[in-house]
Amino acid sequence: MLNDFVKSLIRWYEGSARDLPWRSTTDPYLIWLSEVLLQQTRVDQGLPYYLKFIQAFPTIQHLASASEEEVLKLWQGLGYYSRARNMLQTARYIAYKMNGIFPHNSKTWKQMKGVGDYTAAAISSFAFGEVIPVLDGNVARVTARLLACSEDITKNTTRQLFLQFLEQLIPAAAPAVFNQAMMELGAMVCKPGKPDCASCPVASHCQGRLMGMAASLPVKAKKAKPTLRYFDYFHLVYGNRTWLIRRPSGDIWQGLHEFPMVENTHPEPVPRIPFLQASALQSMALEAEYTHRLTHQLINARFWKIYTTPEQINPLSGIFECAHNRLKEYALHRLMVRYLEQQHIETET
Ligand code: SF4
Repeated sequence: MLNDFVKSLIRWYEGSARDLPWRSTTDPYLIWLSEVLLQQTRVDQGLPYYLKFIQAFPTIQHLASASEEEVLKLWQGLGYYSRARNMLQTARYIAYKMNGIFPHNSKTWKQMKGVGDYTAAAISSFAFGEVIPVLDGNVARVTARLLACSEDITKNTTRQLFLQFLEQLIPAAAPAVFNQAMMELGAMVCKPGKPDCASCPVASHCQGRLMGMAASLPVKAKKAKPTLRYFDYFHLVYGNRTWLIRRPSGDIWQGLHEFPMVENTHPEPVPRIPFLQASALQSMALEAEYTHRLTHQLINARFWKIYTTPEQINPLSGIFECAHNRLKEYALHRLMVRYLEQQHIETET
Protein backbone atom coordinates (compact mmCIF):
# COMPACT_ATOMS: atom_id res chain seq x y z
CA MET A 1 0.00 0.00 0.00
CA LEU A 2 2.70 2.47 1.03
CA ASN A 3 4.80 1.26 -1.83
CA ASP A 4 1.93 2.02 -4.22
CA PHE A 5 1.72 5.50 -2.80
CA VAL A 6 5.41 6.17 -3.42
CA LYS A 7 5.32 4.68 -6.93
CA SER A 8 2.28 6.77 -7.95
CA LEU A 9 3.79 9.90 -6.47
CA ILE A 10 7.17 9.50 -8.15
CA ARG A 11 5.66 8.51 -11.50
CA TRP A 12 3.53 11.65 -11.42
CA TYR A 13 6.50 13.80 -10.40
CA GLU A 14 8.73 12.48 -13.16
CA GLY A 15 6.02 13.16 -15.74
CA SER A 16 4.76 16.55 -14.54
CA ALA A 17 7.34 18.36 -12.42
CA ARG A 18 8.35 21.89 -13.29
CA ASP A 19 11.82 22.18 -14.74
CA LEU A 20 13.60 24.28 -12.09
CA PRO A 21 17.34 24.88 -12.40
CA TRP A 22 18.28 23.68 -8.90
CA ARG A 23 16.53 20.35 -9.49
CA SER A 24 18.97 19.22 -12.16
CA THR A 25 22.06 19.56 -9.96
CA THR A 26 23.56 17.94 -6.88
CA ASP A 27 25.97 20.85 -6.34
CA PRO A 28 25.51 21.71 -2.64
CA TYR A 29 26.30 25.39 -3.23
CA LEU A 30 23.53 25.80 -5.79
CA ILE A 31 21.08 23.77 -3.72
CA TRP A 32 21.83 25.68 -0.53
CA LEU A 33 21.51 29.00 -2.38
CA SER A 34 18.15 27.99 -3.87
CA GLU A 35 16.84 26.86 -0.48
CA VAL A 36 17.88 30.09 1.23
CA LEU A 37 16.45 32.28 -1.52
CA LEU A 38 13.18 30.39 -1.79
CA GLN A 39 12.28 30.18 1.90
CA GLN A 40 8.90 31.83 2.48
CA THR A 41 8.94 32.91 -1.17
CA ARG A 42 7.04 31.71 -4.23
CA VAL A 43 9.12 30.03 -6.94
CA ASP A 44 8.19 32.62 -9.59
CA GLN A 45 9.33 35.39 -7.23
CA GLY A 46 12.51 33.62 -6.07
CA LEU A 47 13.74 32.28 -9.42
CA PRO A 48 15.02 35.63 -10.81
CA TYR A 49 16.96 36.16 -7.55
CA TYR A 50 18.52 32.71 -7.83
CA LEU A 51 19.67 33.48 -11.38
CA LYS A 52 21.04 36.89 -10.33
CA PHE A 53 22.94 35.39 -7.39
CA ILE A 54 24.57 32.55 -9.32
CA GLN A 55 25.61 35.00 -12.00
CA ALA A 56 27.12 37.45 -9.49
CA PHE A 57 28.56 34.75 -7.20
CA PRO A 58 29.14 31.54 -9.17
CA THR A 59 30.94 29.80 -6.28
CA ILE A 60 30.90 29.90 -2.48
CA GLN A 61 34.27 31.72 -2.57
CA HIS A 62 32.76 34.52 -4.70
CA LEU A 63 29.87 34.88 -2.28
CA ALA A 64 32.13 34.71 0.80
CA SER A 65 34.25 37.59 -0.48
CA ALA A 66 31.24 39.85 -1.22
CA SER A 67 30.43 42.76 1.07
CA GLU A 68 27.20 42.81 3.06
CA GLU A 69 26.14 45.86 1.05
CA GLU A 70 26.54 43.95 -2.26
CA VAL A 71 24.54 41.00 -0.97
CA LEU A 72 21.76 43.19 0.44
CA LYS A 73 21.57 45.14 -2.82
CA LEU A 74 21.10 41.96 -4.84
CA TRP A 75 18.59 40.69 -2.27
CA GLN A 76 16.58 43.92 -2.41
CA GLY A 77 12.84 43.26 -2.68
CA LEU A 78 12.94 39.68 -1.39
CA GLY A 79 12.23 40.64 2.25
CA TYR A 80 13.39 38.80 5.38
CA TYR A 81 16.79 40.48 5.16
CA SER A 82 18.24 38.63 8.15
CA ARG A 83 18.29 35.61 5.82
CA ALA A 84 20.67 37.47 3.51
CA ARG A 85 23.03 38.28 6.37
CA ASN A 86 22.91 34.70 7.67
CA MET A 87 23.62 33.44 4.16
CA LEU A 88 26.72 35.59 3.93
CA GLN A 89 27.95 34.47 7.35
CA THR A 90 27.48 30.82 6.39
CA ALA A 91 29.25 31.35 3.06
CA ARG A 92 32.23 32.86 4.88
CA TYR A 93 32.24 30.09 7.48
CA ILE A 94 32.23 27.33 4.84
CA ALA A 95 34.73 29.10 2.57
CA TYR A 96 37.24 30.12 5.27
CA LYS A 97 36.71 27.83 8.27
CA MET A 98 35.81 24.64 6.40
CA ASN A 99 38.15 25.21 3.44
CA GLY A 100 35.19 25.41 1.07
CA ILE A 101 34.01 21.90 1.92
CA PHE A 102 30.27 21.76 2.45
CA PRO A 103 28.71 19.81 5.33
CA HIS A 104 27.70 16.36 4.11
CA ASN A 105 24.78 15.66 6.42
CA SER A 106 21.79 17.37 7.97
CA LYS A 107 23.27 17.30 11.48
CA THR A 108 26.24 19.46 10.43
CA TRP A 109 24.13 21.67 8.17
CA LYS A 110 21.94 22.55 11.15
CA GLN A 111 24.97 24.11 12.82
CA MET A 112 25.23 26.67 10.01
CA LYS A 113 23.74 30.11 10.53
CA GLY A 114 20.20 30.42 9.19
CA VAL A 115 19.82 26.70 8.46
CA GLY A 116 16.91 25.06 10.27
CA ASP A 117 15.54 21.51 10.24
CA TYR A 118 13.79 21.89 6.92
CA THR A 119 16.71 23.47 5.02
CA ALA A 120 19.22 21.00 6.48
CA ALA A 121 17.07 18.05 5.42
CA ALA A 122 16.46 19.50 1.95
CA ILE A 123 20.13 20.18 1.17
CA SER A 124 21.31 16.86 2.61
CA SER A 125 18.80 14.80 0.70
CA PHE A 126 19.07 16.73 -2.60
CA ALA A 127 22.87 17.07 -2.67
CA PHE A 128 24.05 14.02 -0.72
CA GLY A 129 21.19 11.52 -0.89
CA GLU A 130 20.61 11.45 2.87
CA VAL A 131 17.46 9.49 3.64
CA ILE A 132 15.66 12.18 5.60
CA PRO A 133 12.21 13.64 4.92
CA VAL A 134 11.73 17.36 4.42
CA LEU A 135 8.80 19.02 6.11
CA ASP A 136 8.16 22.45 4.70
CA GLY A 137 4.78 24.21 4.56
CA ASN A 138 3.75 22.40 1.38
CA VAL A 139 4.65 18.95 2.70
CA ALA A 140 2.96 19.65 6.05
CA ARG A 141 -0.28 20.59 4.26
CA VAL A 142 -0.20 17.46 2.07
CA THR A 143 0.58 15.25 5.05
CA ALA A 144 -2.19 16.74 7.20
CA ARG A 145 -4.64 15.96 4.40
CA LEU A 146 -3.31 12.48 3.68
CA LEU A 147 -3.72 11.61 7.36
CA ALA A 148 -6.93 13.64 7.86
CA CYS A 149 -5.12 15.18 10.80
CA SER A 150 -6.87 18.16 12.39
CA GLU A 151 -4.18 18.88 14.98
CA ASP A 152 -2.51 22.31 14.84
CA ILE A 153 0.37 21.94 12.34
CA THR A 154 2.48 24.55 14.10
CA LYS A 155 2.78 22.29 17.17
CA ASN A 156 5.95 20.30 17.60
CA THR A 157 4.00 17.12 18.43
CA THR A 158 2.13 17.35 15.11
CA ARG A 159 5.36 17.89 13.21
CA GLN A 160 6.90 14.85 14.91
CA LEU A 161 3.88 12.77 13.91
CA PHE A 162 4.23 13.94 10.30
CA LEU A 163 7.96 13.19 10.28
CA GLN A 164 7.35 9.67 11.56
CA PHE A 165 4.80 9.11 8.80
CA LEU A 166 7.17 10.45 6.14
CA GLU A 167 10.06 8.36 7.47
CA GLN A 168 8.01 5.24 6.76
CA LEU A 169 7.42 6.38 3.21
CA ILE A 170 10.74 7.82 2.06
CA PRO A 171 12.52 5.27 -0.16
CA ALA A 172 16.21 4.69 0.65
CA ALA A 173 16.99 4.53 -3.07
CA ALA A 174 15.45 7.89 -3.99
CA PRO A 175 15.09 10.26 -1.02
CA ALA A 176 15.67 13.40 -3.10
CA VAL A 177 13.01 12.55 -5.69
CA PHE A 178 10.52 11.61 -2.98
CA ASN A 179 11.06 14.89 -1.12
CA GLN A 180 10.87 16.95 -4.30
CA ALA A 181 7.72 15.11 -5.33
CA MET A 182 5.97 15.80 -2.02
CA MET A 183 6.89 19.48 -2.24
CA GLU A 184 5.76 19.67 -5.85
CA LEU A 185 2.46 17.99 -5.03
CA GLY A 186 1.80 20.63 -2.38
CA ALA A 187 2.80 23.48 -4.69
CA MET A 188 0.92 22.35 -7.80
CA VAL A 189 -2.00 20.09 -6.80
CA CYS A 190 -2.66 19.97 -3.08
CA LYS A 191 -2.80 23.75 -2.79
CA PRO A 192 -3.87 25.83 0.22
CA GLY A 193 -7.65 26.16 0.44
CA LYS A 194 -8.44 24.24 -2.75
CA PRO A 195 -6.82 20.88 -3.31
CA ASP A 196 -7.26 19.59 -6.86
CA CYS A 197 -8.09 16.04 -5.76
CA ALA A 198 -9.38 15.12 -9.23
CA SER A 199 -5.82 15.43 -10.63
CA CYS A 200 -4.03 14.03 -7.61
CA PRO A 201 -1.81 10.97 -8.19
CA VAL A 202 -2.26 9.76 -4.60
CA ALA A 203 -5.98 10.52 -4.20
CA SER A 204 -6.84 6.89 -3.47
CA HIS A 205 -4.52 6.98 -0.41
CA CYS A 206 -5.83 10.25 0.99
CA GLN A 207 -7.90 10.06 4.20
CA GLY A 208 -8.70 13.77 4.07
CA ARG A 209 -10.31 13.39 0.65
CA LEU A 210 -12.14 10.19 1.61
CA MET A 211 -13.57 11.91 4.68
CA GLY A 212 -14.52 15.05 2.74
CA MET A 213 -12.40 17.31 4.92
CA ALA A 214 -9.35 17.97 2.72
CA ALA A 215 -10.13 21.61 1.91
CA SER A 216 -10.48 22.54 5.59
CA LEU A 217 -7.03 21.16 6.42
CA PRO A 218 -4.48 21.88 7.69
CA VAL A 219 -5.45 23.48 10.97
CA LYS A 220 -3.14 26.26 12.04
CA ALA A 221 -3.25 28.25 15.30
CA LYS A 222 -4.24 31.87 14.78
CA LYS A 223 -1.31 34.25 14.77
CA ALA A 224 -0.86 36.75 17.57
CA LYS A 225 -1.87 40.31 16.70
CA PRO A 226 0.99 42.16 15.01
CA THR A 227 2.69 45.12 16.71
CA LEU A 228 1.62 48.40 15.15
CA ARG A 229 4.41 50.84 14.28
CA TYR A 230 4.15 54.31 12.76
CA PHE A 231 7.05 55.52 10.61
CA ASP A 232 7.32 59.00 9.14
CA TYR A 233 9.94 59.31 6.41
CA PHE A 234 11.32 62.60 5.17
CA HIS A 235 12.34 62.90 1.56
CA LEU A 236 14.54 65.98 1.89
CA VAL A 237 15.20 67.59 -1.47
CA TYR A 238 17.97 70.04 -2.28
CA GLY A 239 18.37 70.41 -6.06
CA ASN A 240 19.07 66.90 -7.35
CA ARG A 241 20.19 65.68 -3.94
CA THR A 242 18.59 64.03 -0.94
CA TRP A 243 19.71 62.47 2.37
CA LEU A 244 19.92 58.86 3.47
CA ILE A 245 20.66 56.98 6.63
CA ARG A 246 21.52 53.32 7.27
CA ARG A 247 19.24 51.37 9.58
CA PRO A 248 20.94 50.28 12.80
CA SER A 249 21.29 46.74 14.09
CA GLY A 250 18.73 45.22 16.42
CA ASP A 251 15.65 46.11 14.41
CA ILE A 252 13.97 45.25 11.11
CA TRP A 253 15.81 46.02 7.87
CA GLN A 254 19.16 46.16 9.63
CA GLY A 255 21.85 47.62 7.34
CA LEU A 256 19.41 48.80 4.64
CA HIS A 257 19.15 52.46 3.67
CA GLU A 258 16.23 54.80 4.00
CA PHE A 259 15.35 58.47 4.34
CA PRO A 260 15.74 60.04 7.80
CA MET A 261 12.64 59.15 9.80
CA VAL A 262 10.88 59.33 13.12
CA GLU A 263 8.90 56.53 14.71
CA ASN A 264 5.85 56.80 16.94
CA THR A 265 3.80 54.19 18.77
CA HIS A 266 0.56 55.91 17.75
CA PRO A 267 -0.49 57.99 14.74
CA GLU A 268 0.45 61.69 14.99
CA PRO A 269 -1.48 64.16 12.79
CA VAL A 270 1.80 65.84 11.80
CA PRO A 271 5.12 64.41 12.92
CA ARG A 272 7.69 66.33 14.92
CA ILE A 273 11.05 66.43 13.11
CA PRO A 274 13.88 67.01 15.58
CA PHE A 275 16.60 67.13 12.92
CA LEU A 276 15.05 69.89 10.81
CA GLN A 277 14.82 73.62 11.51
CA ALA A 278 11.32 75.08 11.58
CA SER A 279 12.04 77.30 8.55
CA ALA A 280 12.31 74.16 6.37
CA LEU A 281 8.79 73.00 7.10
CA GLN A 282 6.91 75.45 4.88
CA SER A 283 7.16 73.16 1.85
CA MET A 284 6.35 69.96 3.75
CA ALA A 285 3.82 67.84 1.83
CA LEU A 286 2.51 64.33 2.36
CA GLU A 287 3.39 62.33 -0.77
CA ALA A 288 2.45 58.77 0.08
CA GLU A 289 1.01 56.50 2.78
CA TYR A 290 1.54 52.74 2.88
CA THR A 291 0.88 49.86 5.20
CA HIS A 292 3.39 47.05 5.10
CA ARG A 293 2.94 43.72 6.84
CA LEU A 294 5.90 41.84 8.26
CA THR A 295 5.66 38.57 10.16
CA HIS A 296 4.95 40.14 13.56
CA GLN A 297 4.58 43.82 12.74
CA LEU A 298 2.32 46.11 10.79
CA ILE A 299 4.15 49.20 9.59
CA ASN A 300 2.12 52.32 8.84
CA ALA A 301 4.41 54.57 6.86
CA ARG A 302 4.05 58.12 5.59
CA PHE A 303 6.46 59.80 3.21
CA TRP A 304 6.79 63.57 3.41
CA LYS A 305 8.62 65.63 0.83
CA ILE A 306 10.42 68.72 2.09
CA TYR A 307 12.46 71.16 0.00
CA THR A 308 15.35 72.23 2.17
CA THR A 309 19.00 73.31 2.30
CA PRO A 310 21.91 71.60 4.07
CA GLU A 311 22.00 74.48 6.61
CA GLN A 312 18.45 73.70 7.74
CA ILE A 313 19.37 70.15 8.73
CA ASN A 314 20.55 69.76 12.32
CA PRO A 315 23.38 67.26 12.90
CA LEU A 316 22.00 63.73 12.81
CA SER A 317 24.23 60.74 13.39
CA GLY A 318 24.86 58.72 10.23
CA ILE A 319 22.98 60.98 7.81
CA PHE A 320 24.66 61.52 4.42
CA GLU A 321 23.87 63.25 1.16
CA CYS A 322 23.10 61.28 -1.97
CA ALA A 323 22.21 62.35 -5.52
CA HIS A 324 18.80 61.05 -6.58
CA ASN A 325 20.31 59.21 -9.54
CA ARG A 326 22.66 57.32 -7.18
CA LEU A 327 19.97 56.05 -4.82
CA LYS A 328 19.83 52.88 -6.92
CA GLU A 329 23.35 51.99 -5.74
CA TYR A 330 22.15 51.46 -2.16
CA ALA A 331 20.31 48.51 -0.67
CA LEU A 332 16.86 49.87 0.11
CA HIS A 333 13.93 48.22 1.85
CA ARG A 334 10.58 47.55 0.21
CA LEU A 335 8.88 50.72 1.45
CA MET A 336 11.66 52.92 0.08
CA VAL A 337 11.53 51.14 -3.27
CA ARG A 338 7.77 51.52 -3.42
CA TYR A 339 7.94 55.23 -2.71
CA LEU A 340 10.82 55.91 -5.10
CA GLU A 341 9.08 54.02 -7.89
CA GLN A 342 6.00 56.15 -7.31
CA GLN A 343 8.27 59.20 -7.63
CA HIS A 344 9.77 57.76 -10.87
CA ILE A 345 13.20 57.51 -9.29
CA GLU A 346 15.25 54.47 -10.34
CA THR A 347 15.97 51.84 -7.67
CA GLU A 348 17.80 49.17 -9.68
CA THR A 349 21.29 49.44 -11.16
S1 SF4 B 1 -6.35 13.82 -2.70
FE1 SF4 B 1 -6.63 15.99 -2.56
S2 SF4 B 1 -6.26 16.50 -0.43
FE2 SF4 B 1 -5.45 14.45 -0.77
S3 SF4 B 1 -3.30 14.77 -1.23
FE3 SF4 B 1 -4.37 14.72 -3.18
S4 SF4 B 1 -4.87 16.87 -3.63
FE4 SF4 B 1 -4.30 16.72 -1.47
